[in-house]
Amino acid sequence: MNPGDRVRLEHDGRTHEGVLMPATTAERAVLKLDGGYNVGIDRKGSELEVIEAGVHDVGGADASESSRVDFDDDLPTIALVSTGGTIASTVDYRTGAVTARFDAEDVLRAVPDLAGRANYRGRVVANILSENMTPDVWQDLARAVHEEIEAGVDGVVVMHGTDTMQFSASALAFMLDTPVPVVFTGSQRSADRPSSDNVMNAVCAVEAAKSDCAEVMVCMHASDSDDRCALHRGTRVRKNHTSRRDAFETVGSTPLGHVEYDTDTVNLHEEHRERGATNLAVASTLETDVELLKFTPGTSERVLDAVGESAGLVLEGTGLGHVHTDWIPRIEELIEGGTTVVMTSQCLSGRVCDRVYDTGRDLLDAGVIEAGDTLPGTAKVKLMWALANEEDIERVMGESLAGECTERSVPAENLVEGGRAQ
Ligand code: GLU
Repeated sequence: MNPGDRVRLEHDGRTHEGVLMPATTAERAVLKLDGGYNVGIDRKGSELEVIEAGVHDVGGADASESSRVDFDDDLPTIALVSTGGTIASTVDYRTGAVTARFDAEDVLRAVPDLAGRANYRGRVVANILSENMTPDVWQDLARAVHEEIEAGVDGVVVMHGTDTMQFSASALAFMLDTPVPVVFTGSQRSADRPSSDNVMNAVCAVEAAKSDCAEVMVCMHASDSDDRCALHRGTRVRKNHTSRRDAFETVGSTPLGHVEYDTDTVNLHEEHRERGATNLAVASTLETDVELLKFTPGTSERVLDAVGESAGLVLEGTGLGHVHTDWIPRIEELIEGGTTVVMTSQCLSGRVCDRVYDTGRDLLDAGVIEAGDTLPGTAKVKLMWALANEEDIERVMGESLAGECTERSVPAENLVEGGRAQ
């Protein structure tokens, strides 16, 4: 059986049918399902049967062929790292998704507008829906991006599903010290729809990756028109709409900048780390045993027992950072048992302050750590990173490592388009 064969695979009582892809490990079979997405399944315990041989050229045989696109010494080199999502399905015309062979030629065939802007190096880290993203893949991604920068690229574009892009961008922001831009981009509408945002987002992301802003950023439509993309800091961005092309907003601050599509201009308006200002480093170890729990009226205390034995627990509390007062003794027990408990707020903007009301003061007395105005999802990723890499978690959660929290809030009138008031 070879990559490109249509196969039926039975595993754990479930049957999957699709095209066998060139797998990255011998232990797993990767199947492209008819819907366009890939599943990776353990070969051990699976029964695999060929339904039709060689239905697709999936590029496996000539994966080592070099690209026929000439290298231009006058252009910067950008690494395009793919993790999957709608945007990646643009890139491979053969099977509808990025395959093992993913080079400059594939990129330019899929998005001809990228020609003449850079030399491209393609790399596939995963090919998954981003709801299937895991901390293990964040670690692979951080190491892959680190290798690309070490190899000398001038910037990196990460293609990613939009659903959890903000988490992956945060993870890389904590794991990497980068001297070049690392730009996440995705697509809310697929390439076959007239309203697709894939080409403009990809073009703007490449322009951002060539810019002077050496931060981990998210580059997505700034408005519903095809005029410009916003550059959001990875740790402060949130997907705030299910389907609009301008679904992403910077929360509690302003976007780092914008990319004008017509003129290919990158305008940076916020303080940012400049290209070359930091030495390349990666700290990809994570404590993955961290949960994020949202408290709402009526949430049973039993959920604390379910998640409480974790190494870390981020609470998404009400208002300034509260939970039902009946929860506080149990939280105290968890902290005494070794769980690090961090408080964030479910308000869309603002910072936690547990010194105002008795509930908050009791939580602080119990040992709960405040995360300032860090977004709850970002706080979860940060706690995973901090537990594995830092000693003083209380200090670290209260200060900014990658622009995730501010010392003081920004007045609403100082915010510009694309940002949500603090
Ligand atoms: N829900 C999927 C994901 O986030 C597909 C949609 C998209 O690419 O944004 O990967």
